[in-house]
Amino acid sequence: MRYSSGRSRAATRLLGIEGVAVVEVEEDPGGRRLARLVTDDEGAAACPTCGVVSTSVKGHAVTHPRDVPYGEDAVVLEWAKTRWRCRESSCPRGSFTESVPAIPARSRLTCRLRSACGAGIAESFRCVQSGGDFYGVSWPIAHSAFVAHVQEWLTAPPPPVSVLGIDEISRGKRRWARDPATGRWVLVADRWLTGIVDAAGTAGLLAHVEGRTAASVAAWLTGQPQAWREAVTHVAIDLSASYANAIRLALPHAVVVADRFHLVRLANDMLTEVRQHATRELRGRRGRTRHPEWANRRRLLTAHERLRPETFARMWNELLDADEVGVEILHAYTVKERLRHLLDLAPTPGTSVPDRSVISHRLWRFFDQAAGCDIPEVHRLAETVETWWPAIEAGLTTGYSNARSEGYNRLGKHEGRNAFGFRNTRNQERRIRWACTRQHRRETAIICHAMPG
Ligand SMILES: [Zn+2]
Repeated sequence: MRYSSGRSRAATRLLGIEGVAVVEVEEDPGGRRLARLVTDDEGAAACPTCGVVSTSVKGHAVTHPRDVPYGEDAVVLEWAKTRWRCRESSCPRGSFTESVPAIPARSRLTCRLRSACGAGIAESFRCVQSGGDFYGVSWPIAHSAFVAHVQEWLTAPPPPVSVLGIDEISRGKRRWARDPATGRWVLVADRWLTGIVDAAGTAGLLAHVEGRTAASVAAWLTGQPQAWREAVTHVAIDLSASYANAIRLALPHAVVVADRFHLVRLANDMLTEVRQHATRELRGRRGRTRHPEWANRRRLLTAHERLRPETFARMWNELLDADEVGVEILHAYTVKERLRHLLDLAPTPGTSVPDRSVISHRLWRFFDQAAGCDIPEVHRLAETVETWWPAIEAGLTTGYSNARSEGYNRLGKHEGRNAFGFRNTRNQERRIRWACTRQHRRETAIICHAMPG
C-alpha cells in the first residue's frame, strides 16, 4: 500500500472500495463529507488496449463518482486520477486515464452503487423513478441498473413445467380513429399478448408472446428444447380455438384442459343475454327497477349455494309471477346452475377424483335441461359444452385450471399502475415477468441454500 498512514488506512478500510485509497476526509462547502481518493492499484497504470504498464505521466484528472448512501447522507468522492501515455510502439492507443474494476472507465458511479440500485428497484421500490431518487441517479441509469440485475434470470431457459396455462392479455386500451377518407371510425390499436404460465407449479409467468394467434404461440412452444416440451402433459386454456390449434401443432402429446371458471363465466353471460333479450321482447324496452328480472339480476348470477334459502325462494317466486319473461329466465338459470353443479366435481386439494358415472349423470342433467327449452342462447351454450367436452372432462378429472393466468394478469395490471403505465413494451414485459416469477426465485434460493456445498 502506498498510502499507509494510520488514519488514511482506517478511512480506506471504512470506505471499502477496492483499488482506491482515502488520503483525507473533510467537509465540502455544502457541509457534506468529502473523501479525497487516490488510485491504489498497480494494474490501473496498465494500458487497457495492450496491457503494458506505463510509467509516463501525461497529466491528471479529477472525477466525482457517485457511491451508495453512506450513513445519514452520501459521501462525496473526489478521485484524483493519472493520465498515462502508452509507450508501446505497436499499440494504437496514445494515452489513457486509469480506472479500477470497482469504478470502471467513463462510469460516473461505483459498481456497488449500480448493483445496489438495480437490486433495490427489483426487490423493494415501486418503480424505477423512486429507486433512482433514493440512490441519487437519473432514470436511464437506474433503469439500466435494473435491467442488468434481472436480465440473467429472465433470459434463462424456462424451468421444467408439467401443466401449462395459456391466456390472452390485452395491452392497453383499444384506440379508435376516424378514417379521413370515409369518415368512419376504425380500430387502430387493439394489441394482445399471450401469457404462458406454470398452471400447477410455482414457476410463474414463463413468457409473453406477441399477439394471440395459433402461429405466434406455436412458434414460442416449438422454440423450446425438446425435453422441456416432452415434460408438458396438460395445457389449460380458455375456450380458444387458436390456442387449441397451437397446442395441436407444437405439443401434440399434451392434453388440452378447458378452464372451468371460464365456462362459468360463459354460462353467466348466457343468462344475462337471455334476461335482456326476454325483457326487450316482452316489454319493448330495457328493464326497470320495478321489474323482478331487473331487481334480481345480480342474484341470478350468484351461485345458488351462496344465496340464503329465503332470498332464493323470494327470487324464484317473484320471477314465476312475471309471466313468460320470468319462466324463460328461470329455465336459463337452471341450465347455468346445472353446468356449475357439473363443474363443481373438479377435484381440489383434499378432494378425490370424481367417479365417471357421477360426471356423466350431471352432464346428462345439464343437456336434458338445455334441450327442454327453445332459447337460442341456451342451445349455443350446450353446443359449446359438446364441442369442448373432452377438454372439459380433462379438467374434471385432473382439477387443472387456468386460475394462475388470471392471478398473474392481475399482478401485471398492478405493476402497470405502479409504473403509471408503460410506454415501452419491452420494459412492460420485463417488469411484469419479474413480478410474476417472485415465488419461483424465492423457492430456487431456498433449494440452493439447502444443497450441501
Ligand atoms: Zn497500449
